[in-house]
Amino acid sequence: MAVPKAAAKPGANPLDTAIAQFERAADRLNLDPGLRQVLGTCKRELTTHFPVQMDDGSTKVFTGYRVQHNLARGPAKGGIRYHPAVGLDEVRALAMWMTWKSALVNVPYGGAKGGVIVDPKALSETELENLTRRYATEISIVIDPIRDIPAPDVGTDERVMAWIMDTISMHRGYTVAGVVTGKPVSVGGTLGRKEATGRGILYLIQELTRDHGIPLEGATVAVQGFGNVGGVAATLLAREGARVVGVSDTSGCLYNEKGLDVETLWQGKKEGASLSELGGGDCLGGDELLSLPVDFLIPAALEGQITAQTARNIQAKFVIEGANGPTTPDGDAVLAEKQVLVVPDILANAGGVIVSYFEWVQDLQFFFWEEKQVCEQLQRVITSALREVRARAEQENVSLREAAMLIAVSRVEEATRLRGIYP
Ligand code: GLU
Repeated sequence: MAVPKAAAKPGANPLDTAIAQFERAADRLNLDPGLRQVLGTCKRELTTHFPVQMDDGSTKVFTGYRVQHNLARGPAKGGIRYHPAVGLDEVRALAMWMTWKSALVNVPYGGAKGGVIVDPKALSETELENLTRRYATEISIVIDPIRDIPAPDVGTDERVMAWIMDTISMHRGYTVAGVVTGKPVSVGGTLGRKEATGRGILYLIQELTRDHGIPLEGATVAVQGFGNVGGVAATLLAREGARVVGVSDTSGCLYNEKGLDVETLWQGKKEGASLSELGGGDCLGGDELLSLPVDFLIPAALEGQITAQTARNIQAKFVIEGANGPTTPDGDAVLAEKQVLVVPDILANAGGVIVSYFEWVQDLQFFFWEEKQVCEQLQRVITSALREVRARAEQENVSLREAAMLIAVSRVEEATRLRGIYP
């Protein structure tokens, strides 16, 4: 029987986007052709087809991946995605973005990503646990606190991380907390990790509003994707007085010119409701959220959302990429022409991996921090990365994405070159 296939996914291949962004930086850095090949390729790719016992007694085969892009700067790091349309090229692109992201914010990691072709919402809790424990077992040949450290991504959460940590710990016979980050606090997670990506976005927007002399109080915001990134970012921004006028999830989109009651929506969402069930605003069609006249547009869903076509209708002044790879190179060109300031994914959503790093350090030291310390360190690391990116962009007269890539790729190139080619 043929292996299970991912659901068809329309639009650009994320790997083409990731490679195009890399090639641009490599050209500008005049990268050695050999190193260009090394950095443009994923180092290790594990594909696994594995059986899971379903509730009705049947057995179903699922397909999963774990890809490590580059390990020159440290252990591989990156999330695990459960999604019906996940594919190897997507996981490769996401692994590559993790390498650049970790290098940009200067945490000592290489990049990796994992994925399983599955709709987690279609599984019972037991099926999800069975699938997770078997997938963890399959990838246990590559994951380890000093080799490759997974974390949550689209479709996975702290519960899934606890099962992975427990599975690896059962195999070894002792607790291996540092093998994943984004765990519940009670099993070695860190305070502040769950909110970290959204909080990072808040810190970046606070810095931008200061720099551009725009008051955050009353600034308008639209958020595509109301999950752990978009939902938290919207809630924290609303608490600071921003007016969140539009939010969307897979069920639809809500709009209220006067501002949505984000706190209530996020509470409802956490309790399992979809935005269409929660209401509280007018419903808009799919792409309309992207074209709302707002100060800040935060794409925090999946890749390939801002294309040349959707970019033409964008009216936001700033695009803050909460998702990985939400803008295609064509979309980027249109936004540049319209002078929309884009804070690229590898900076905008780096709050997650920054606090994952803090969690891992705490696990390795068996010494845990207060939440205040986590937040202060996150703010310090992410805002200094923004300043560095802005300075480089001004210096070289390039976009923030290009500047971020120049910084990240040179760091990875340097580490790869200094270590040399073995043997
Ligand atoms: N999945 C998140 C990301 O794309 C977090 C990765 C991590 O913390 O390792 O950045």
